[in-house]
Amino acid sequence: MRVYLDNAATTPLDKEVFEVMAPYMLEHYGNPSSIHGHGREVRAAIEKARRTVANLLNTSPAEIFFTSGGTEADNAAIVCSVRTLGLKHIITTRLEHHAVLHTVQMLEKRGEVQVSYLRHDERGVLDLDHLKELLAQNSQTLVTIMHANNEIGTLNDVEAIGDICKSFHAIFHSDTVQTMGHFKHDLQKLHTNFIVGSAHKFHGPKGVGFLYSDASVKIQPLIQGGAQERNMRGGTENVYGIIGLAKALEIAYRDMEEHRLHIQSLKDRMIHKLRDGLEGVSFNGMSAVADKSLYTVLSVSLPPSSMTEMLLFNLDINKISVSGGSACSSGANAGSHVLEALGVDPDRANVRFSFSKLNTPEEIDYAAEVLINMYKKIPA
Ligand code: PLP
Repeated sequence: MRVYLDNAATTPLDKEVFEVMAPYMLEHYGNPSSIHGHGREVRAAIEKARRTVANLLNTSPAEIFFTSGGTEADNAAIVCSVRTLGLKHIITTRLEHHAVLHTVQMLEKRGEVQVSYLRHDERGVLDLDHLKELLAQNSQTLVTIMHANNEIGTLNDVEAIGDICKSFHAIFHSDTVQTMGHFKHDLQKLHTNFIVGSAHKFHGPKGVGFLYSDASVKIQPLIQGGAQERNMRGGTENVYGIIGLAKALEIAYRDMEEHRLHIQSLKDRMIHKLRDGLEGVSFNGMSAVADKSLYTVLSVSLPPSSMTEMLLFNLDINKISVSGGSACSSGANAGSHVLEALGVDPDRANVRFSFSKLNTPEEIDYAAEVLINMYKKIPA
């Protein structure tokens, strides 16, 4: 059995999505900026895709800008809001994805902003009173806080954070890459100025994403060039990517409840199997708490052993694809700034299982059994 449990890294493309993309690779090849018939039909398809995304998020198509993915959308929101609006201060967390963290640190290094990191506890739960304190002390602030953590799955209360930001007149960007397509974002209720999506996290194609940019906050583009994306992103559009992204999001919204129940049941199954079979197992962050974590992610912490360094390799030999992460950035495992920030024991091994609608209970049983047997074989 070959098992893919790394869906927070990327998801397989849906066949239904591929089928709507293929004609835009072969038949409809016009440049959407061309004014002739070949161009116009492609332009119409891009604008239809934009309306689809906007409708699903309950916002206006004028606020949706297609990008090369989540990283570019995060960069655009952060860099362009700071520079266009003259913001001097960023509030963020040490648990953000590098697409956010490294962008914020670049602006700090260049002397463009001062950065404050929000306090959190050992499970990654943010201290929102600290957010209020920081906002009360600083004006002209960008708050950038992710919706769900990609490593440990902890969910942040973006509604509450948005309300706080609004009351302090701060700009709020949320990296929603991991929740897009898995939660229904309603932009009429959520007080965010920027959110982002990346198609390959919800069974769409790689290399395409989008930025929602609140129309009341006008920013300059990140990428200079032609007038594409209404002057907000130069460069010929990734046409078939955009068509695929919209279809993938449409399917995700259409089937969300059914898939959520299925995926949560797989996650619960894995939690129970590991708790029953593996002495000393625990779960990082709020990973095992259903309503406080992303249902697609389970971050498992395993007791220190002689196997720690070889864990992912051994799972891979057994045809199980997962992600790792170590709190020790110099360890043989790839270092995780998130686990390090949570202060997890660097001698423990960590495995991130991330599930999709395509996984089955049999796959969960197989992966759990392999992991449990690996630990049973360790000499005392
Ligand atoms: N933000 C988060 C939370 C992510 O998990 C990822 C991808 O893993 C990104 C941003 C980057 O997205 P992309 O791969 O589309 O650049």
